[in-house]
Amino acid sequence: MAEKTLNTFEIVQQQIKEACDALGETQEVYEILKQPQSCLEVSIPVRMDNGELKIFEGYRSLHNDAVGPGKGGVRFHQNVSRDEVKALSAWMTFKCGIAGIPYGGGKGGIVVDPRDLSQGEVERMSRAYIKAIAPVIGEKVDIPAPDVNTTPQIMAWMVDEYSMLQGKNTPAVITGKPLEFGGSLARFEATGYGVALMMREAFKAKGKEMKGSKVAVQGFGNVGRFAALYAEQLGAKVVAISDVSCCLYNEKGLDVKALFDYVTIPENKNMIKGFKGADAEYDRNKVFEMDVDLFSPCALENAITTETVNKIKADIIVEGANGPTTPEADKVINEKGIFLVPDILSNGGGVMVSYFEWVQNLQNYYWSFEEVQEKQEVKMVKAFDDIYALKEKHNVTMRVAAFMMAIKRVADAMRVRGWVK
Ligand code: NAD
Repeated sequence: MAEKTLNTFEIVQQQIKEACDALGETQEVYEILKQPQSCLEVSIPVRMDNGELKIFEGYRSLHNDAVGPGKGGVRFHQNVSRDEVKALSAWMTFKCGIAGIPYGGGKGGIVVDPRDLSQGEVERMSRAYIKAIAPVIGEKVDIPAPDVNTTPQIMAWMVDEYSMLQGKNTPAVITGKPLEFGGSLARFEATGYGVALMMREAFKAKGKEMKGSKVAVQGFGNVGRFAALYAEQLGAKVVAISDVSCCLYNEKGLDVKALFDYVTIPENKNMIKGFKGADAEYDRNKVFEMDVDLFSPCALENAITTETVNKIKADIIVEGANGPTTPEADKVINEKGIFLVPDILSNGGGVMVSYFEWVQNLQNYYWSFEEVQEKQEVKMVKAFDDIYALKEKHNVTMRVAAFMMAIKRVADAMRVRGWVK
C-alpha cells in the first residue's frame, strides 16, 4: 500500500509545530515561522530561438532573515510551484540554523523543463529571471545557489547579469559558481565529505570504531561517491555500493577510487554495473539487506519505506539524500533503536561550503582546498555535538533535536531583535 504523502509545505509546517512544541516555544514564534516572510512571483519573458516570446513563471521565497540574509538554491523544473518553493525556503532556514551559519532560508525556481530549451534559451531565461528577482536578492539580502537542473555555468550568467544591473562586480550575490569566477575549492566534494564526517561521529557516539567497520552506500552520484570515498579514507570498508543499475558487493571493501574511474569511462554511462572489483553483483535493492554496521542512503527521496526498513541490518543510518526516509519508516527506525543522523544535518556540507564561498568572495581572498575542508569539519562536528547534546537532554531523536536546534537559533534571534516575546 502506498504510504501517506503530504504536500511538502504541510510537512514543513508539521515539523515546525512539533519542534516548537518540544521546545515549549511561544505561539508567536510558530505563527511567524509557519509562513515565509515574502514570496515573490514573477513572469519571465524569454525570446525563443524561433523568434517567439515565451513567458515563464518563477518564484523567490524568503522564509526568515532574523539570523542573516536568505540562502537557498534556484531550481528549474516543471513541478516547481509556489507551495514547493515556500516549503524549501523554510527547510533552508533550518538547514542553516543546524549548520550554525549566519543565514536565513531562501529558495527560488522556474516552472520549466530545461530539456526542452537550447543552451541559448536557458541563458536568456536565467538572465531574465535574475532581472525579475533583482529587487529581492543581494549579497546581504538573499543569496541564491544551484539546485535541481541548475549548474555553476547558470550561476555565472546570473551573477554577470546582476553585476551589470548594479554597475559593479558582485560575486557574493550567488554561490555555487565556477572556480574561474569566484567559486570555492572543495565545494564539489562538500556534501559527500560531510556525510562521511557524520558517519565517523555517529560511530563515536555509539562507542564503535569506524576503522574496519562495514558500510553500505546507496547511490553513486555526487553525494554517494564522495561519501563512499571519504568513508574509505576514514578507515571503513565500503563493502556495498548501489546505483540505478545494480548493487556491488566486496567482502574486503570495494576500491572506491577504482569505481570512480570506472564510471567515468564514457561507455559505462556513469553506472557501476560491470565493475570487475566486486565479488558479486546483485539487484540494486539488495543494498538494504547487507550485513553492515552503517547504511547511508545517498540516492533519492523515500528510499527507506515500511517495506525496506525491515531489511536493514545496520544499527546506524546516515542520510545523504534529501528525505530518504518516509515518516512511517522513521517510526520503525526509532522503535528498533537504530541511530539515525538526519539529512538536514548530514548533507549540510554543501550549504556550509557555499557559506565559505560567500565569505571568500566578500574578502576577495581565497582559501586552499585543505583550509576549506578543515573549516567544514570543525563546523559539522560542532553541529553534530550540539544536536546530540540536545537529543540527550530532551530524550528525542536526532531528527527532532536537529529541528529544535534550528528553531531555537531563529527564535532566539527574533526575540533579541524584538520581533517576538
Ligand atoms: P546524482 O543525480 O548525482 O546521483 C544520484 C545517484 O542515485 C545515481 O548514482 C543514481 O544511479 C542513483 N540512483 C537513482 N535511483 C536509484 C535507485 N532506485 N537505487 C539505487 N540508486 C539509485 O544526485 P546527487 O547530487 O548525488 O544527490 C543525491 C541526493 O542527495 C538527492 O536527494 C539530492 O537532493 C541530495 N543532495 C544533494 C546535494 C549535492 O550537493 N549534490 C546536497 C544535498 C542533498
